[in-house]
Amino acid sequence: MLTFYLVLLSITNQSQVNQKDFKRKKIINRLKNQGRHNSDCIFCRILDGLEEGTFIYRDDNVSAFMDIHPLFEGHTLVIPNEHFKDVTDVKPEIMAEVMKVAQIVSKLMIDNLGADGINIMHSTGRSAGQTIYHFHVHVLPRRIGDDAGFERWWFSRSHKASRDELQEVANRLTQR
Ligand code: AMP
Ligand code: ZN
Repeated sequence: MLTFYLVLLSITNQSQVNQKDFKRKKIINRLKNQGRHNSDCIFCRILDGLEEGTFIYRDDNVSAFMDIHPLFEGHTLVIPNEHFKDVTDVKPEIMAEVMKVAQIVSKLMIDNLGADGINIMHSTGRSAGQTIYHFHVHVLPRRIGDDAGFERWWFSRSHKASRDELQEVANRLTQR
């Protein structure tokens, strides 16, 4: 009886896995047909199952998986399933969905990984440190004393700008 139950359980699990796999393939195939997948991109290849990925979230438009070089334990990347190169390229509504998932992941880090703080980071362009040209945000779980030097760097800014200086840059920034 127990054997029968275990076999049944494993068939159920297997069919759930197959269903998930089928859904993932359907989503990726749709993107491929629409030319919204880039087979040269490592993140597109991870989504396609051609490269290994440790996923914690997947839906029709967004996925989240573990960063292979974690800055902190639990460091997660949240990406659109569609290939966009950076923040200038991604559709605003998709970026909003990415941020919704970043919020879900942040809460999981606080509830399940003992994080008491979160950094959400993004880089566009080489000067900003972007290395993978498929839009993504980093969700970094933080704990008091984890010390990656972030705060020291962020709070080390000593230059206080004058109002004129700020206005001049603001004018240039918003000129038409
Ligand atoms: P960025 O420098 O902002 O473009 O971030 C790219 C991130 O992708 C880095 O943190 C890498 O550690 C991560 N990364 C690169 N290759 C993989 C991979 N195969 N699986 C998971 N994360 C990766
Ligand atoms: Zn891609």
